[in-house]
Amino acid sequence: MASRLPQHSTLRRTLPVTASGFIAVGWLLLQALVALPPALAQTQSTEDEFTYGDFLEKVDEGQVQQVDIDPERGIAQVRLKGDSDADEPRQVLLFAGDGRNPELIQRLRQQQVDVEIQSPGSGGAIAWFAANTLLVVVLVFGVLLILRRSASGAGGAMNFGRSRARFQMEAKTGVQFEDVAGIEEAKEELQEVVSFLKNPEKFTTVGAKIPRGVLLVGSPGTGKTLLAKAIAGEAGVPFFSISGSEFVEMFVGVGASRVRDLFKKAKENAPCIVFIDEIDAVGRQRGTGIGGGNDEREQTLNQLLTEMDGFEGNSGIIIIAATNRVDVLDSALLRPGRFDRQVMVDLPTYQGRLAILEVHARNKKVDDSVSLGAVARRTPGFSGAELANLLNEAAILTARRRKEAVTMLEIEDAIDRLTIGLSLTPLLDSNRKRMTAYHEVGHALITTLLPHSDDLNKVTIIPRSGGVEGFTQSLPNEDLIDSGLYTRNWLLDRITVALGGLAAEAEVYGDMETTTGAGSDIKQVTTLARQMVTLYGMSDLGPVALETMDSPVFLGRSLAPRSEYSEEMASKIDQQVRAIAHHGYNRARHMLREHRALIDRLVDRLLEVETMEGDEFRKLVSEYTTLPEKSFAKSGATP
Ligand code: ADP
Ligand code: ZN
Repeated sequence: MASRLPQHSTLRRTLPVTASGFIAVGWLLLQALVALPPALAQTQSTEDEFTYGDFLEKVDEGQVQQVDIDPERGIAQVRLKGDSDADEPRQVLLFAGDGRNPELIQRLRQQQVDVEIQSPGSGGAIAWFAANTLLVVVLVFGVLLILRRSASGAGGAMNFGRSRARFQMEAKTGVQFEDVAGIEEAKEELQEVVSFLKNPEKFTTVGAKIPRGVLLVGSPGTGKTLLAKAIAGEAGVPFFSISGSEFVEMFVGVGASRVRDLFKKAKENAPCIVFIDEIDAVGRQRGTGIGGGNDEREQTLNQLLTEMDGFEGNSGIIIIAATNRVDVLDSALLRPGRFDRQVMVDLPTYQGRLAILEVHARNKKVDDSVSLGAVARRTPGFSGAELANLLNEAAILTARRRKEAVTMLEIEDAIDRLTIGLSLTPLLDSNRKRMTAYHEVGHALITTLLPHSDDLNKVTIIPRSGGVEGFTQSLPNEDLIDSGLYTRNWLLDRITVALGGLAAEAEVYGDMETTTGAGSDIKQVTTLARQMVTLYGMSDLGPVALETMDSPVFLGRSLAPRSEYSEEMASKIDQQVRAIAHHGYNRARHMLREHRALIDRLVDRLLEVETMEGDEFRKLVSEYTTLPEKSFAKSGATP
């Protein structure tokens, strides 16, 4: 259930990157094909709402610092006083002939503005020419690259049959059990494998059979590879590794010959560990998939099974495989004598995260003021790999800021960076920024006012990479997260919070002025509401499970296993989902309507400071209304 964690921050996004990237590329191509004259092409791209009127007004107010006039294109580049050098100058479309308009020039001179007039034929046209040449070069380069790739693909085909060994061997992994933290149960279970590798006689003399294959099951980044390496490290035996996807080649027979190679080498080096990552890539249930299955994969899998059966007695080779999808594995793999031992490697709990952070903080300079406990509390749902990455990011930030040691500030920033994106420079004051502020305040206020929702951690309108214009972040309640049990109340409040952004846009700007910025919120809401109806029995349809817990995978055991309900039921489900979403939305709008004055106040403050911490936000709110008693009020239980 942990993997189904609802997201704890609500983002406001512009169009998805791919979509806008697509549009941008399309536009570029169009520009190249139609070859618009420079003036037109340029004016179309001006999206700054800095009009000629604004410009004159700023001139008269003495706010203009510098003006570059391009009479050819009828455009002026304007820098205001107070604009930083890094900012793009604002573009103003001048009226025809205005570039040489002596009146305008005089007006500018009067205000002692720095005026420059570009000589005709320079600048714009050259830039335009350069841009187009560049475009052509990029296109040609791209085509060459594609040609090269397919050529090397053909080269690959020449190599057919001559399997290049794609596995790695490490004589000494150098990883010990103490480097693996937070998955104590798994470690304990594997301890016996280590003892076997160290002195097999102890087991064989009493006639004990040692498992040949161990399957480590868990989501990516939980430390499965690390654990396998630690076993080899502790036992002091070589470590062979290969990824399941390496077996799956275009040509029949290559995978099987790789398996043979691998085991040949392993036998020569026994005792040893053979580690197969992503075994589901090769070990899926046979005879399914489109077109009745994949010959190559089946051959590879058969070869693997043959090799495993082929070790007589105790050959000293232990195969450890990793996957996060046992359910799709071929049952032949799981039979006795093969991967009959399964060890779960879960996402770490609070204690586990703390232990992992301690491991990775060992080789970093961390300031005494940093409480790793607090970091562990801030990172529910993070895997071991993500925690390691987090500390590394924080260390990089620390170096960049020329500090001596990592402080909580860098860690907080690294968390945001990993969960949301790089922070960009704030927008200039504009309607868009104000609207983002209303949107975020909508989320933040509702999360603050609802009794079952998480505590607000912060709200910000500093944009982030990936088109995020701002976000509201709440501090998940640790008990809830680690137990993985959410109440119906919590879910309904969560849905209301997620719709608070859209509701605020609608309340303030009107139903017709809402934006696409709420897209990811709505997606989140739909997923949650659907789960409430189809998985958790939290709707009028009652306690029936209408979907299986595992998200369906296209090439799983069978093609369309999931919906075991009729068309009629499907439409009832849709109705219920809609009802839940509507209920949340109406509730959000009512709440926001009642607090309109407070919202304006919060938005003004947010526009001023750009980021507000939860405490400051709550303080402002409490001046207008009483804060609710949170239903799970920070229990003393969380360390
Ligand atoms: P998996 O194989 O489960 O995808 P990995 O073992 O490749 O995950 O983990 C990648 C990295 O993340 C490791 O090299 C290690 O630095 C870190 N890591 C993951 N889990 C743990 C853990 N339980 N304890 C310490 N470090 C971990
Ligand atoms: Zn939002």
